[in-house]
Amino acid sequence: PDVRLLGPAEIRDLAEVLDLQPTKKLGQNFVIDANTVRRIVSVAGVRAGETVVEIGPGLGSLTLGLLAAEAAVVAVEIDGRLAEQLPKTVGLLAPDADLTVVHEDALRIAELPGDPVRLVANLPYNVSVPVLLHFLERFPSLRSGVVMVQAEVGHRLAALPGSKIYGSPSVKAAWYGRFRTAGNVGRQVFWPVPNVDSVLVAFERADEQPGDESLRRATFDVVDNAFGQRRKMLRQSLAPLFGDSSRAIAALEAAGVAATARGEELEVDRFIAIGRELLAV
Ligand code: SAM
Repeated sequence: PDVRLLGPAEIRDLAEVLDLQPTKKLGQNFVIDANTVRRIVSVAGVRAGETVVEIGPGLGSLTLGLLAAEAAVVAVEIDGRLAEQLPKTVGLLAPDADLTVVHEDALRIAELPGDPVRLVANLPYNVSVPVLLHFLERFPSLRSGVVMVQAEVGHRLAALPGSKIYGSPSVKAAWYGRFRTAGNVGRQVFWPVPNVDSVLVAFERADEQPGDESLRRATFDVVDNAFGQRRKMLRQSLAPLFGDSSRAIAALEAAGVAATARGEELEVDRFIAIGRELLAV
């Protein structure tokens, strides 16, 4: 369909009409470059007719790209002025598009219309990881997605065991599926220009979830403790969680993990094995 994407001039005009002062607190950096939008939509592999959820549509830069690909878009925006403007912008630039705007904090959202199969978003950087994990947990219909995040955060999400930056977000992401970085994005494509570079992160949910909610919680507790003191050996860092270090050592042994190992060495399946031991305590 004939959809116009937003460039610097349109973003400037919209900001002026709304008398918008972008706030750092809400991570409001808007994409002003149509090529970046096309790139995100293409990396995400968005298909006509499918329902895509977008978190933080802002002035609509990415939303219009998704609508141009003929997706049905459910857009969750916390800022009332932006949530109110978005249907008007889309009405002008993509009149036949299928858009639902939900005015809410993405961290608190419990239901979405249309069972979206894909998540595509330029995430608000201050809450990118919690928002992403919340959506993966809450909406099993989401099979895959692409998010733009701060470069450092994106590399952490996609990190593998043994890497210096492998940590709690890497393991938690791996609980849900496979994450990989899918290209760098410079800061000049945003208004206002942020003081960090960005990266695209693509994910595919695993065919089967590793376990139920209680195992997920136990596993994430283990992960948080293991990386809370990442230089310590697991028999020390997990002692508080299991009661004392001898119980932690027994649990590690039962999970097939060396008591002297550190969290940064372990794949998600070992954390899950330790999580199972925690549930059995
Ligand atoms: N998608 C737009 C783009 O690419 O130009 C805007 C991206 S901007 C980085 C992040 C957007 O997320 C802003 O519109 C901001 O108001 C919104 N936002 C921030 N925190 C949010 C939250 N907790 N829930 C929903 N939206 C949020």
